[in-house]
Amino acid sequence: MQAQAATLDVEHLMKVFDRQVVVRDVSFSLQGGELLTLLGPSGSGKTTTMRMIAGFEEPTGGDVRVAGESIVDLPVHKRDIGVVFQQYALFPHLSVFRNLAYPLEMRGLRKAEIANRVERALAMVRLEGFAGRLPKELSGGQQQRVALARAIVFEPRLLLMDEPMGALDKRLRELMQIEIRQLQQQLGITTVSVTHDQIEALVMSDLIAVLDGGVLQQLGPPLEVYQKPVNRFVADFLGESNLIDVAACQPRTEGLLCRSSRGLETLAAPLRPGEEAASWLVVRPENIQIGDAAAELPNHCRAGIREVLYVGDLLKYRVETETGEQFSIKALASAGQPWRVGDTSLIGWRTEHCLPIRS
Ligand code: ADP
Ligand code: MG
Repeated sequence: MQAQAATLDVEHLMKVFDRQVVVRDVSFSLQGGELLTLLGPSGSGKTTTMRMIAGFEEPTGGDVRVAGESIVDLPVHKRDIGVVFQQYALFPHLSVFRNLAYPLEMRGLRKAEIANRVERALAMVRLEGFAGRLPKELSGGQQQRVALARAIVFEPRLLLMDEPMGALDKRLRELMQIEIRQLQQQLGITTVSVTHDQIEALVMSDLIAVLDGGVLQQLGPPLEVYQKPVNRFVADFLGESNLIDVAACQPRTEGLLCRSSRGLETLAAPLRPGEEAASWLVVRPENIQIGDAAAELPNHCRAGIREVLYVGDLLKYRVETETGEQFSIKALASAGQPWRVGDTSLIGWRTEHCLPIRS
């Protein structure tokens, strides 16, 4: 089984329901074989975006191109897109074999070819020998794998998955994330996936598109979106962050010198090209050092330890600076003697780990 690695271009996509804009000017492009995750809270427009790509919903504006050609005027069954949507469940009264054969019968394939393709698709999701079962005779994870096999059995140009693991428990979900990602890469199929789970987005994607209120907040590779959030929403939604408000700032050669309303001074990374001011500085908890070595860093101050939590291999501290700023800090538990509540220590961070962002 080999995918055709089509490019996907979503251009200025827009959807209005009852005069409410639920998807506003969303654009992104995928190279053949890439996986993009739409990440956002409930109601942010993820499913509506997917339904417009799949053809279940007509866009109010914008275009969707596969391999360069617009598909918005094509009916669902002519779009050549495999979907794993929650409301697109397996046929309960049909065997696994018949569920997988269905899209192939629709396309008029011969019996022998159908049997051959169903067998290969089941092998890809490691369900050889389950062809005769009914969906209810399978576990949740197995049903999800059948749904995936059904979505790829006709070798579509595009795969769409809307919260494919939403119904599974955490452990199974983590296994499936890796399994689906491997299969997607092995097939080389261009894929758009939806989740509200930030870890899932970070683990699975070539690109993450963060949506809020129908607006694309940021688009980029996982590490970039995590390390360089452009605004407060993205910084808060993807990972944990410490936010420092900016009362004043001045560009200096060594960085952006900022002061918070409480009077904490810190050197931050320069503003992005085109940005004129920052509302906040964001520092990830793992980028704050604690202990005497922090004296070496361009930004450091004294802080009191207010809370210590062991989280397996991590130690989480909540600290308060002399100016009254509260920070959360993550350190490896193996990094030595932990600090205790009531202790005072130096804390510090690098200029490049302190990013100016919009509100
Ligand atoms: P998500 O998948 O991110 O949770 P949706 O795309 O399902 O978000 O919904 C986005 C917004 O559009 C929500 O406010 C939802 O209520 C609204 N919406 C979705 N489908 C319809 C519809 N058929 N009619 C009216 N409003 C809708
Ligand atoms: Mg949804």
